[in-house]
Amino acid sequence: PSIIHLKRDLLVPLSFQSNGAQAETHDARAAAYSSKGVLNTRFGDFPHSSIVGIPYGSQVRAAPRTNNEQNRKRKRMEDADEGETAEPVSTGFIHVLAPTAELWTASLPHRTQVVYMPDSSFILHRLQVRPGSVLIEAGAGSGSFTHAGVRAAYNGFEFHKERVQKLTDEIERHGLDGLVEIVHRDVCKDGFLVKRMVGEEEEDISPEATAVFLDLPAPWLALPHLTRRARPTPSLPTSTGLTPSPSPGPTTSVGKIGEAVRICTFSPCIEQVTRTVNVLRKLGWVDVEMVEIQHRRIEVRRLNPKGYEDGAGPRTVGEAVQRLKWIGEYREHKRKKNPADSTITTQQNPTEAWKTQNSREKKGAKDGKIVTRIEPEIKSHTSYLVFAVLPREWTVEDEAAAQALVKQTT
Ligand code: SAM
Repeated sequence: PSIIHLKRDLLVPLSFQSNGAQAETHDARAAAYSSKGVLNTRFGDFPHSSIVGIPYGSQVRAAPRTNNEQNRKRKRMEDADEGETAEPVSTGFIHVLAPTAELWTASLPHRTQVVYMPDSSFILHRLQVRPGSVLIEAGAGSGSFTHAGVRAAYNGFEFHKERVQKLTDEIERHGLDGLVEIVHRDVCKDGFLVKRMVGEEEEDISPEATAVFLDLPAPWLALPHLTRRARPTPSLPTSTGLTPSPSPGPTTSVGKIGEAVRICTFSPCIEQVTRTVNVLRKLGWVDVEMVEIQHRRIEVRRLNPKGYEDGAGPRTVGEAVQRLKWIGEYREHKRKKNPADSTITTQQNPTEAWKTQNSREKKGAKDGKIVTRIEPEIKSHTSYLVFAVLPREWTVEDEAAAQALVKQTT
């Protein structure tokens, strides 16, 4: 049996949880999707009503289906008034899986290139994103990373209007509104501050982010909007003779004051990486590092003593000759054991004989060679990931407090 990823609208009820805020079961949402639709697959038809509301992990058999042949048979029977009914065709089954960000990435409608699980899991780990963090993503595109990142509170920026609308709809349908805010914005031009009501007035305030993910064609253009507040010149020690560099950043910090901000940029070519790294360095980011994910599943197997993988057929002429020899030997052996059985030479299935011989060899296969095979099919976008940290801001007041503490303790 194959596992079918239930697509799109069937991805309800959802069980995403973050900050303990989304524990509801979404029965009402589920009800909205129930009964009407049918999921048609090559394994059969599955009415939504047979799926919605049942426990995750359940197996659902396809609805009985009649094929054309049976329809014709039924028609003939009806015409002849034979009073019989056609038998339903037997079909397959599916397992109902709890929806996760990973399943959504595997089945979402692609509006752009998307970030796949090998990358998103590594990025979120390196950005130290966890419930309670505030994560910024620009651009949000198809929402693949959005769903992975929503385990933290999340702000997504996207400048393509239609994508913003579609993503906002999906977020609502998946019960993630309240955790995710999608902002229609060109971040390279207008930055990352978010609008909030402060008293009667709407103001641009800091999202207080602790992590930033930039999946943009030119991330270096967005970086100046992420630097710390421009510091007043007098706070810099003039006695050193150093001239303070003018800060191109906004007057409100995008990052959370008093915490380090971690960033990841996602770029397909090395020229983009170079430009990003140059600007990161100029703007005071540290621990700048580039990583490329090469995701491979490696299968490790022990060959049988004849040098074949168990169950595999011959791949060379030599192996085929060896196989025929074994089949001959095997038949001879059987014939000797049952001289009266005349069916052995004619009815013995060579494939079965091969398997039997192979498994016999396998039993004694203690020191077959170990081989590895690489399975290159796993999807992971081949982009370069640049990581960096904007250190915790250290103000004059922090310095004074630290000095006072030192004095107290010495
Ligand atoms: N991260 C997304 C995902 O996992 O589904 C895919 C992002 S897609 C590769 C890049 C997106 O960045 C596009 O949707 C594009 O519209 C958006 N974009 C490009 N420049 C932008 C800008 N200056 N501000 C906001 N969004 C931008």
